[in-house]
Amino acid sequence: MAVILHALPNKIIPVEGAPCVLRDYVIANEDMKPLILTLRGEFEEIYGPTIAAAKDPFPVIIAIRVKATTNHYLSLSTESSSVILIAPIAQQAMHLQNWHHTHADVLRQMLNQSSYTNPRILLPPVNNNRITHIATVLQQKPRTAWIQGIVELDCVPLKLTYIACSLCYYPSKLVSNLPVPCQHCRSNADLVPRALIAISLTDATGSLCAAAIDIEAERLIQYSTAELYYLQQEQNVDLTQYLARTLHGKLLMCYIKPSPSKFKPIRRAAYEIITSYAIDELFNAENINMNNLNING
Ligand SMILES: [Zn+2]
Repeated sequence: MAVILHALPNKIIPVEGAPCVLRDYVIANEDMKPLILTLRGEFEEIYGPTIAAAKDPFPVIIAIRVKATTNHYLSLSTESSSVILIAPIAQQAMHLQNWHHTHADVLRQMLNQSSYTNPRILLPPVNNNRITHIATVLQQKPRTAWIQGIVELDCVPLKLTYIACSLCYYPSKLVSNLPVPCQHCRSNADLVPRALIAISLTDATGSLCAAAIDIEAERLIQYSTAELYYLQQEQNVDLTQYLARTLHGKLLMCYIKPSPSKFKPIRRAAYEIITSYAIDELFNAENINMNNLNING
């Protein structure tokens, strides 16, 4: 159960040859972490007008059996078995509305800052007991996991950016200053470069290779995408040593997912980093106990 804070413009995408309407709604509850709920197809056709016509500009929504997705950031989406209720008459819904009235200013501010696309707000760092050993990740292949490990630069020669559709971020084979039809989402969209880097993460049990994309890559290597794109075009600049030095030995807590098979920007990187925290950002360096972290220093 959540309050609908905002409806984003609807989108029409082809699904199995037929056009399908979908709309993203920003919702929030007492967790204070606004996030996107996507109503797909008939859910938007049926409930979109109800939401738009609701007496309360911030109607309460109950969404049952919705799935969590991690495309670009954490969000929720309907699937065929989902159940949606708008403005239910229930005691809890009234509580939630009262809660929204008292927190409306803060929520509006979070909405203006697009906090629902910010993994640092949606996925704050977790306690040690929620960290999965890398060996367990490799064996059990969970859909997402928090891991912790020591970083090294992986994959040389380096590919530091790729050209992507500005809407769905899938890679484009074309390079153009004009909008081009995207092979993945079919929109006529501008192309943008996106930063990309592969790192290996090692804990006491094993190691894996993961790709950091866009702001995750920028944060790790402290270069902007524009700078990386420029440097990559320059023949005589070798960033390998700089990057290896910047990354070497960093201790990182990351939330990862397997790279989608349709889009693996770096073949060796079986995982993609959804968000990450440098451990020294979280604790004072002297308080880090390597044994507790379960990492061979
Ligand atoms: Zn696209």
